[in-house]
Amino acid sequence: MSAPFREALVDLGAIAENVRALRARVATSTVMAVVKADGYGHGAIPAAHAALDGGANWLGVADIAEALRLRDAGITAPLLAWLHAPGADFASAIEAGIELGVSSAAQLEEVAAAGPAAVQLKLDTGLGRNGIQSDDAEAVFRRAADLQHLGRIRVRGLFSHLSNASVDDDTAQLAVFEQQLAAARAAGLDPEFTHLAATAGALSLPAARLGMVRLGLGIYGLSPFTDTTSTALGLRPAMRLSAVVASVKRVPAGQGVSYGYTFRTAAPTTLALVPLGYADGVPRHASNRAPVSINGHTYRIAGRVAMDQFVVDVGDAPVSVGDAAVLFGDPAEGVPSADDWAAACDTINYEIVTRIGARVTRSYRS
Ligand SMILES: *Cc1c(COP(=O)(O)O)cnc(C)c1O
Repeated sequence: MSAPFREALVDLGAIAENVRALRARVATSTVMAVVKADGYGHGAIPAAHAALDGGANWLGVADIAEALRLRDAGITAPLLAWLHAPGADFASAIEAGIELGVSSAAQLEEVAAAGPAAVQLKLDTGLGRNGIQSDDAEAVFRRAADLQHLGRIRVRGLFSHLSNASVDDDTAQLAVFEQQLAAARAAGLDPEFTHLAATAGALSLPAARLGMVRLGLGIYGLSPFTDTTSTALGLRPAMRLSAVVASVKRVPAGQGVSYGYTFRTAAPTTLALVPLGYADGVPRHASNRAPVSINGHTYRIAGRVAMDQFVVDVGDAPVSVGDAAVLFGDPAEGVPSADDWAAACDTINYEIVTRIGARVTRSYRS
């Protein structure tokens, strides 16, 4: 069988190994594998299975629909969802054994009304996003203790999320978290799970590991730090994005390439057409900048990335229709990395992998 036209090939063994490697580094903590956003574009269900194989104890997602999809696939591991729209279907989540992150007094009432529910209170310790604000925390803790006494909820955890603005900022958030944990206990709560750190915090701020860490990016083999590669962290990128060359043509010097002619050939040359475009998640910012590997050589994209395709000027290299063009993968295999793409597109590797579109076939190897 020929390779898919456009393919994101995911190495599930790499995900399991990355979890194992990260787990060894945060030995005292329980690991929640974060598989939101379709497992960062890798496929939530296969990624969840691989992470559990690698020793993850929990799974985390943003919303209830994502959590229900995992349950529908037969995944029974402890599972937390923490971002809810007004009127979210808490009853279905509770029935499916999904634990609910609760970020406000109003949400606590909604969840309790749909309960009995297992909840984890999400605190805003400084990120300024989702979570119970410090001023409200004591009242929410008291109300949660009452609702727990009434059997409407059980407060299983207390958590927050770091800004990664600086070590000092993260340390300040940790201090706020510890104060609030004490306040929660004083209000009569006894949360079994306390967690603050995602991949960056788990690796760079040991004090923030607490009882559990929520690892997303790292389990996919990518580094959250711009100054430390995945290889240096002992992680292996799990995704390789490629497409087959759809057309090859010889053109003369001076040939304009793609919309707006932002690239012109310098000499007679061969142009290879790669059938991936911004509709497939290739950022338009990659135009004339991002690297692509064909037959072991790395080139730059020539001209603008279009909706469905882009062009590579391969010079006199013997490139044929059907050859594989690799956009990114494991740099140890001599191909560009998602980090190279992030740098070329002025963004972060998270965005590079999560934006891959529906036309791209996800394939798996173990
Ligand atoms: C996405 C997310 C994570 C995982 O973050 P990474 O940087 O990918 O490890 C952890 N916790 C929360 C609340 C998140 O939203």
